[in-house]
Amino acid sequence: MKKTIVSTFFLVTAYVVTAQSNLKMDFEKYDPPSTLVVPKHKITKAKFPFIDIHNHQSNMSPQKLNELVREMDKLNMKVIINLSGQNGEKLKQSVANVKVAAPGRLIVFANIDFKGIGEDGWTKKAVQQLEDDVKNGANGLKIFKSLGFSVKDNAGQRVRVDDTRLDPIWQKCGQLKIPVLIHTADPKSFWDSLNESNERWLELATHEGRRRGPNNPVPFEDLISEQHRMFRKHPKTTFINAHFGWYANDLAKLSSLLDAMPHVFVEFGAVIAELGRQPRAAKQFFTKYQDRILFGKDSWVPDEYATYFRVLETEDEYFPYHKRYHAFWKMYGMGLPDNILKKVYYKNALRIVPNIDKSQFHN
Ligand SMILES: [Zn+2]
Repeated sequence: MKKTIVSTFFLVTAYVVTAQSNLKMDFEKYDPPSTLVVPKHKITKAKFPFIDIHNHQSNMSPQKLNELVREMDKLNMKVIINLSGQNGEKLKQSVANVKVAAPGRLIVFANIDFKGIGEDGWTKKAVQQLEDDVKNGANGLKIFKSLGFSVKDNAGQRVRVDDTRLDPIWQKCGQLKIPVLIHTADPKSFWDSLNESNERWLELATHEGRRRGPNNPVPFEDLISEQHRMFRKHPKTTFINAHFGWYANDLAKLSSLLDAMPHVFVEFGAVIAELGRQPRAAKQFFTKYQDRILFGKDSWVPDEYATYFRVLETEDEYFPYHKRYHAFWKMYGMGLPDNILKKVYYKNALRIVPNIDKSQFHN
């Protein structure tokens, strides 16, 4: 009898061990539908009309603008801030097309052409171009992450975000009362080792080019410090730090930055999953900084806005983000009250971006 029990034990153990080795599964594949039954809200249209402060539209032809407006209406999106406005003739043409095909629905930000920085007269020329662009209908300036990463001067040196040759540009934006939306660096994890401890492992595994390192081009902390130094040097200019300044995963740190720099705003493009995994802390943050947060998304994929609305508006629990390589975790809604939602959706943007048609927004 005893012998049978022992041999059965060995048989069962052997079976479990074999079964386990057959059951190895890819991290990417393991994504079981949740069995949790809780209220679900699929919100395809924002509760209030909204402005997307972080959007990119490369095709600004009248025909494309017509299509765009139809998509925007479905989302209750009244105004797109197109950060890819470029400059000169291209910008002028885009503004003219908006007037004809989508009046009041798009606002265009200008971009700086960094080519030739370091040459005699470059700064003066860049400031003049910006002034012309604003005269031609630009209502803000967008700085891409290439500044800090890849922009080089005429001597082949990396141009730092706080390079003094750019100071007159930031000053001019203050004088013209236009905001500067700036994206600096990337998530800190892009600099970290690519192993099982890296939360962005999947993104880096599938997007090889996003990997960074201490010499590629400099450490994360260096870029962020350059940006903050530049902010502090220009307190009369309004800055919008894109992607929550890459501190959506450390709201205490972001709080201290916002407290120290009252002229800086933030938008949550591409980092809503960070907020959705800490709904209580995020709600406190939104309550405290309700006048400094703007709605931004970045990539134009209309279906994905539902995720943003759900995190902001609902108290739904344990729901997925739309891109597994940004977030493999589940999220929770913050359930923001109407007065805060309205500020985030449009009131704050109306305050700092000139020339938005206010008649499209109620109180
Ligand atoms: Zn962007």
